[in-house]
Amino acid sequence: MEKVIGIDLGTTNSCVAIAEGDSPTVIPNRGGYKTTPSMVAVTEAGKRLVGHIAKRQAITNAENTVYAAKRLIGRKWNSPPSMAAKETVPYSIVSGPHDDVRLALRDRTYSVPEISAMILQEMKIIAEDYLGDDVTKAVITVPAYFNDNQRQATRDAGTIAGLEVIRIINEPTAAALAYGFGKKIDRLVAVYDLGGGTFDISVLEIGANEVFRVISTAGDTFLGGEDFDARIMDWLIQGFKEEHGIDLRSDRMALQRLKDAAEKAKMDLSSQLETEINLPFIISAGQNEALHLQRSLRRETLEDLCEDLVQRTIDICGATIQEAGLSKSEIEDVILVGGMTRMAAVQRRVAEFFNREPCKGVHPDEVVALGAAIQAMALMDQTKDMLLLDVTPHTLGIMVVGGYFEEVIPQNSTVPTSRSKIFTTVRDNQTAVKILVLQGESKRAEENELLGEFIMSGLRRAPKGQVEIEVTFEINADGIVSVSAKDLETGLKQSITVTASSGLTEDEIRNMAAESQDFLIERRASEEFEKARQEAERIIREIDRMFAEVEHMVQGSEFGQEALAKARSIIEKARQAIAERHLEQLTTAIDTLKRTQKMFKGVLSRS
Ligand code: AMP
Repeated sequence: MEKVIGIDLGTTNSCVAIAEGDSPTVIPNRGGYKTTPSMVAVTEAGKRLVGHIAKRQAITNAENTVYAAKRLIGRKWNSPPSMAAKETVPYSIVSGPHDDVRLALRDRTYSVPEISAMILQEMKIIAEDYLGDDVTKAVITVPAYFNDNQRQATRDAGTIAGLEVIRIINEPTAAALAYGFGKKIDRLVAVYDLGGGTFDISVLEIGANEVFRVISTAGDTFLGGEDFDARIMDWLIQGFKEEHGIDLRSDRMALQRLKDAAEKAKMDLSSQLETEINLPFIISAGQNEALHLQRSLRRETLEDLCEDLVQRTIDICGATIQEAGLSKSEIEDVILVGGMTRMAAVQRRVAEFFNREPCKGVHPDEVVALGAAIQAMALMDQTKDMLLLDVTPHTLGIMVVGGYFEEVIPQNSTVPTSRSKIFTTVRDNQTAVKILVLQGESKRAEENELLGEFIMSGLRRAPKGQVEIEVTFEINADGIVSVSAKDLETGLKQSITVTASSGLTEDEIRNMAAESQDFLIERRASEEFEKARQEAERIIREIDRMFAEVEHMVQGSEFGQEALAKARSIIEKARQAIAERHLEQLTTAIDTLKRTQKMFKGVLSRS
């Protein structure tokens, strides 16, 4: 059966897993790590770096290293999250051609899905190396609270990376799958998922018959570990300003070092009560004078600095339980997901709120990818009787007269689902109607997320109110919205394309995918060349080692002298192929080198 991977495309780290047989496993990357930093950089030489290697050079190449791109995926240029990121990240954020966000690295700008695609492509490569086979299909997870634009953009990222995204699933739901699959349990659980960039809470009913039903979900796509880091950074910057009168925000490299140090301090404080933050030569203060930053941070102080952030997650939990029509005491287990749930204050507050100790059995960094792999397996293998019933996190609706928002599909409806609405003309001889599709909970249309707009044209000329069009709004199992229309009088169906206001065009996606495929081919070729180079150099070293002795032994033989000359010439050829990076010539040279090596060994063994 074709292998399909599950990818947790995280704000801070990403993880890939595969389910073979019945048990899913996380696939380690080449460094042996089970998660890979969601970071992309472009070096001065124009080389693209992804993952750990991008993270390692982030301080010295801060302006060209992107982290937390997930916070910007599917966002509009003028949205509050884009504006907030513009102020705080060291890389440069610019506006794109579709009112979208682009990231400028060196002399090029990239769309956010392109950056995410680079991370997805890296996960695909990790899986291919492990499986020794091509991987073309994936299930990708997104925060439950992602809206349609964010989901579409994630799907586009998959396409650009050369992956057919067979399903998008919600992160907390994936975690619940990994927790409950194959255990034959009947249980009501809450999944509290606090990652690097987003917070989600989902309440699910797990049935012994492998039915996973989400009852309600909520969250905040701009609340996560990055905000905790920012609080520590603010505290450090403020303290430094008071002491030296210098604003560290003016220096991008200092900012990147502060971010690293803040995150590290935060992590240290999950296991200890106090930590030292030491940043020598953080900034220069005039000629020949460098200033250092040195402070100690206590767990209590961190908890004070971040109290409101934790409280926000707890408030959302309360609202979700209420929305599910349940009381806290009915929840039988609480599953913690995401790196931030290692923070003591988070664990304590969650335990206090639910009045029970959270479950310790799942690995917070790996459980989402494992769940995605289980879903991938179930989608491919029809014999698996697993049913996943998720819900839509946002109300879907349209704008009506007066700028109001009218609900079409309510929040927390089980997906896939569809609802229809009848529209009539409001003017005589009106031949077109414009409909704005939005997602959100506000009564005012403008406060909700605009998913797109469409114009129904070619309507029959008639007095107002006499043309009736039935418009069907659909949310599929990925949580992605589509719309179609039917003229009720003629029964004719109009297909409507909702033009997402901030998405990429199909042409753009196609071009980006082709470019990404070229990159993959080039990278694979370069890896192949590197392997061949190492092999050739190893054989050359061995031949070199034997050379003098063989030369001595064949001194008197003309045939022997000829063989030595040939050996010299093939070594020369191999070196030239290496210098010219010519894989084909190098591969041929390796074959001859191997023969020479064998011959030398033969001569020596006869001595
Ligand atoms: P995730 O998106 O699930 O990979 O979570 C990443 C977030 O978890 C980042 O903000 C990390 O800084 C944070 N994190 C990871 N380990 C710890 C830890 N031991 N203590 C506190 N936060 C952590």
